[in-house]
Amino acid sequence: MGLQDIKDRINAAAEKAGRDPSAITLIAVSKVQPLDRVGAVLDEGHRVFGENRVQEAQGKWPDFKARFPDIELHLIGPLQSNKTRPAVELFDAIHTVDRLKLARRLADHAQELGKSPDIFVQVNTGDETQKAGCALSEVDTLVQACRDLDLPLKGLMCIPPIDEEPSLHFALLAKVAARNGLEGLSMGMSGDFESAIAQGATHIRVGSAIFGERVPAAQ
Ligand SMILES: *Cc1c(COP(=O)(O)O)cnc(C)c1O
Repeated sequence: MGLQDIKDRINAAAEKAGRDPSAITLIAVSKVQPLDRVGAVLDEGHRVFGENRVQEAQGKWPDFKARFPDIELHLIGPLQSNKTRPAVELFDAIHTVDRLKLARRLADHAQELGKSPDIFVQVNTGDETQKAGCALSEVDTLVQACRDLDLPLKGLMCIPPIDEEPSLHFALLAKVAARNGLEGLSMGMSGDFESAIAQGATHIRVGSAIFGERVPAAQ
C-alpha cells in the first residue's frame, strides 16, 4: 500500500459511485508516524495531513511548513478548551467541534487572530457513552450556534462504533448534514473509506493504509 494505491482506490470508488474524485479530499493521517515517512509522502507531492493531538502537531509541523508553504493541516482528534488558541494558529481545519463552549472559544480566537480554520461538527452517531462527539439530538442546535458565531462551518464528522457496519453511520451522518444544509462530510478511514465515498464523503482520513502501521511512541 501507499499514497498512489490509495489514490487509485479513491478514483475507483468515486467512479463506482458516479462522483467526481476531485470532490474528495484525502487527509493523510500522520499521527505518531516517524518524520521520514511523513517527509516521503510530502516528497510525493501530497500536502493535506491530519493530526489528532495539538501538542504533537506543534512539534512536528512548523519545520515542514517552512519547507512546504502550501501544506494544509487538519485536526481530527479531541480538542481541549485550553488548546484552542494554538489549534486556531496551526490548523487549517478542525473536525472535532462537539460542544458550544468549544465553538465559543474558537470564535473568540478567530476574532482576535483575524482568521479561522474550517470547522466540522463531530457527531457521536452511535450514541456511545465514552465517545467524543455531539449527541445526535443536539447536532442541529450546535450547527446553528456555529453559524450564529460566524464560524466557517463546512460540515459534519463521525467515527463509527468499531463493532457496527460503518455504512449505516455514514448514511446517517449524510442525512443529518443534508437536513442542516451542510455539504462537508468527514468520514471514512483506512478500513472503510470506499464505503464512505459511496455515502458521499468529501474528506476521508486515512493513516495506516498510506504510512504503514503506526509505530508506538518510544518509551
Ligand atoms: C487515527 C485516525 C484516523 C486514521 O486511522 P487509520 O485507520 O490509520 O486510517 C482517522 N480518523 C481519526 C479521527 C483518527 O484518530
